[in-house]
Amino acid sequence: MSRSAVVALLLIAFPLASAYDAYRSRDGVVDFLRHYGYLDSTADRSLITNDELRQAISLFQEYYHLPVDGTLNNVTLRYMARPRCGVTNAPNHRLGIAPLRWPGLNLTWNFQLADRTTLRTTETAFALWAANSSLTFSRDTNKPDIIIAFREGRHTMLDRRYDGAVCPNDLDGPGKVLAHATLPSGAREDVSEVHVDHREAWHVALTPNPQNSYHLLRMLVHEIGHSLGLSHTTDENSLMYAYSPAVEWPVVLGMEDVLAVRNLYGVAEGESSTAAPAEPTVVQRTTTPASTTATAASPEPPDPCTWRHVDTLLVLGKRLFVTRGRYAWSIDLGGKIVDRPFVLGDYVRFLPQTVTRLSAAYQTVKGDLVLFADGWVYMVSYPTLELRASWPRRNTDLGLPPNAVINAALNAHKGRTYVIYNDYAVLEMDECNMTARGYHMLQTVFPGIPSAVRTAYRYTDGHLYFVHRDRFFAYNKFIETVTRSGKFDLDVIGVTCPREDILRKLWDLLTRLARSSIAFD
Ligand SMILES: [Zn+2]
Ligand SMILES: [Zn+2]
Repeated sequence: MSRSAVVALLLIAFPLASAYDAYRSRDGVVDFLRHYGYLDSTADRSLITNDELRQAISLFQEYYHLPVDGTLNNVTLRYMARPRCGVTNAPNHRLGIAPLRWPGLNLTWNFQLADRTTLRTTETAFALWAANSSLTFSRDTNKPDIIIAFREGRHTMLDRRYDGAVCPNDLDGPGKVLAHATLPSGAREDVSEVHVDHREAWHVALTPNPQNSYHLLRMLVHEIGHSLGLSHTTDENSLMYAYSPAVEWPVVLGMEDVLAVRNLYGVAEGESSTAAPAEPTVVQRTTTPASTTATAASPEPPDPCTWRHVDTLLVLGKRLFVTRGRYAWSIDLGGKIVDRPFVLGDYVRFLPQTVTRLSAAYQTVKGDLVLFADGWVYMVSYPTLELRASWPRRNTDLGLPPNAVINAALNAHKGRTYVIYNDYAVLEMDECNMTARGYHMLQTVFPGIPSAVRTAYRYTDGHLYFVHRDRFFAYNKFIETVTRSGKFDLDVIGVTCPREDILRKLWDLLTRLARSSIAFD
């Protein structure tokens, strides 16, 4: 890649006073607008007409949804002074030109001379893009496609093919320029570079960053986005928005980011949700639990004595519902009375016959049940179990990628609902319209919870419980910490029959886990 192909991304954080100083001068404003692509002129500053300048300011104002008057009013100056990343390509000067992308989907990276915490944060940044596209990333210290390094002051390019050439953009110490990166050239053998200013106050860990620090994860996700070929968006909920938000944590991909990376690289092959359910029905049924006498004719359910795990656990009021394969059991909390197991399809009649298991279930704040099965989502009233109008919907209608394999879903608190999918990705849902509010990594939303959880549920003690292999993790959502972890193996509750006994013991186990977490707190 030639030096001219290098696009510097300058994250600037001028204190307001110096910003005013810089941008109140006509030359300062011209340089700013030209550098960030709003003034498309290479002419000497003195030759740029006031009309051209007004036009450029208007374009800047329009881009950032400010009142457009073409003047340098205080709102505009304040906006210019906010910490931001600035690509040098103009917002609308590349019409008809497809963005450059990597020709391959399996990319490698290295953060040179990074410590373990930095590497973990970098892995997380890449994983966020991988979870929402067909891209995969792995670390390769020898010949990485994307090289990241801390640099400072005047510095050289990292890839040996530059032969020690000086980077066209300096890093200037604390504030102002925080980092810059290069976009892909389209050639497979090329290298993209991210230069991070070593002298900034970086917060490296996957925890909220203190004031007066910059979150390395957020910056890396943004810069890696450019390394993949993504441009800025005008949507301030997007991570590819040029300006840094006042609050940088948690780091969340917006819908624009996900669509942009999918536009370039598509979604992963795998489970497709484009096929209609075998019995697509939106007809509301009014079958109540009392009337499900048809279950008597159902084949014998599998013997719980042979269980090693369950598919879903759901605590609804004073009942615990457990599903495993096509069967569900309900256990009364008070009397520990186990109802006869029922076939899901008999009881929840709108489920297609082809559904062999529920992958996840949770209860909304309003009390409805949301069931995930075979790429479809069912919104169901509780306890009448009527399918809500306009349901089921596809996973993709909620903003999940078509390849999403659902691990678990839960309503955490304050109406925050999370769907865990593809083992380590998390969709945050807007409960009002059941659409995506943001895309996270599991470890940033629930620090300490391992990937690939099998099920998650909220218990009556208010804790969230995650089950991973044979371990449970009790999570306190208020202090955002795992407060207790231990064995969650149905073996521990004994495999003695009769089978209903095991369900009562399962309930006992959950109660015991809950008690032990409270003790731990
Ligand atoms: Zn940027
Ligand atoms: Zn550089």
